[in-house]
Amino acid sequence: MERRSPAPRVNPPRRAFIRALSCLAAVWCQIAAPAFAISSKDESELGRRFDFEARSKLPLLNEPDVARYLDRVGATLVGALADRAFEYRFTPLRDGQVNAFAVPGGFVYVNAGVLVRAGNDDEVAGVLGHEIAHVQAHHLARQQEKTQLLNYAVIAGLILSAIQPAIGAGALAASSAVQLKYQRGFEQEADFLGARYMRNAGYEPRGMLDFFKKLMDDQRGGPKLVPPYLLSHPLTEERLTNLEAVLRQSQWDRASRRAGSLDLERARLAARVNLEPIDAVIADYRRRVEENPADPLAAYLFGTAQLLAGNAAPAREMLRRAQQLGVQVSERELGRLALQQRAFGEAIERLRKAAEIDPQDALVFRELGRALEAIDDRAGAMEAYGKAVELSPSLDDVHYSLGMLAGRSGRTGEGYYHLGEALLLRGEYQSALNNLHKASGNFPEGTARRAQIDANLRDLTQILGLRPR
Ligand code: ZN
Repeated sequence: MERRSPAPRVNPPRRAFIRALSCLAAVWCQIAAPAFAISSKDESELGRRFDFEARSKLPLLNEPDVARYLDRVGATLVGALADRAFEYRFTPLRDGQVNAFAVPGGFVYVNAGVLVRAGNDDEVAGVLGHEIAHVQAHHLARQQEKTQLLNYAVIAGLILSAIQPAIGAGALAASSAVQLKYQRGFEQEADFLGARYMRNAGYEPRGMLDFFKKLMDDQRGGPKLVPPYLLSHPLTEERLTNLEAVLRQSQWDRASRRAGSLDLERARLAARVNLEPIDAVIADYRRRVEENPADPLAAYLFGTAQLLAGNAAPAREMLRRAQQLGVQVSERELGRLALQQRAFGEAIERLRKAAEIDPQDALVFRELGRALEAIDDRAGAMEAYGKAVELSPSLDDVHYSLGMLAGRSGRTGEGYYHLGEALLLRGEYQSALNNLHKASGNFPEGTARRAQIDANLRDLTQILGLRPR
């Protein structure tokens, strides 16, 4: 083969994408930055800035049970990667349609609708494994090199419309009618890699195929029923056939008929309460108990649904029944119920027990903090809230409570810091900036907290187009 150009050359589309990435440093690209080689660091930077900015536009779902479930499945998959390219972060969105999308750098957004539709952990792992594969294989960056999108605003707008078609079509993507869609080869590669990640992490790869088949059925039902997921991840019979062949060749085709885990059931209930009319949710879970009166999980979920609907008496009765049938975890729900009924002593006792049973449960610590705050135990409440945000950093309401409590307790720096974090998570950037500025001086240089505050300040300053102070 003839080689005409021995020197390495950057082709024009590649240069355009590199310039778009390098412009991220200046956010809106006012000056043409010099091209530099595209690297994982550039992708991380794109993801981080996109995430920072998109959080104020996306309908985030702030449910500890949902966040924790996604984190757990995601972390299991990522933990088994032989060559992890990025830190991964999984963000649940308040949207009942099936969709998931990964942004370069490891930022994965998942609609709550995925959890409602998935039959078991394997199916959820299939969706996440496929997204992780797109990131690990740098598909978006490689694809943009070919399609030559010109600047960060267009790229960010396209990604935003892939995640949330309704809002993406507005602000950011106005300049482009192009739709972001992975090319066929990348889809197949993501299927294959995703299935391998699943296998390595202990999930049944068959779950991916099962879930995709459900979506294929939706697609056959007509254009109105096509889930947004299929717009950015086109699904064809050929793709399903290829995935089936891969599973068979690797002897990974054992049917996955596992039931949903308790964590998935809990996440699904929390998601549904946020997405559907509460009466419909209750009716569904009631039917399950009527069909299986001896099933502890059915009783537990129905009791929890009643609790979330604010129906104290039937909730208590059903949760007791679940406990008698052997569900130990209902201390957390009986504690929440007591809190709802303002029986603070009982709530604190039960929630402390629940925290012992499961010390990783952010929801328990949030509720415990609320109960302690109600009896004016500020120090106790702050400790519990602190634990909650340590376990689940995106709980903006907990940051807000912590900020107010810290302020009232004379811990000014902590107060401004947590208020700043709450406002940041809510996308109220100007107020966040003001609070974080006030917080910064209260922490000595070189401490982790100071470094975190200053990093957030730098991002905010850039996003708001301000000069650094
Ligand atoms: Zn895909």
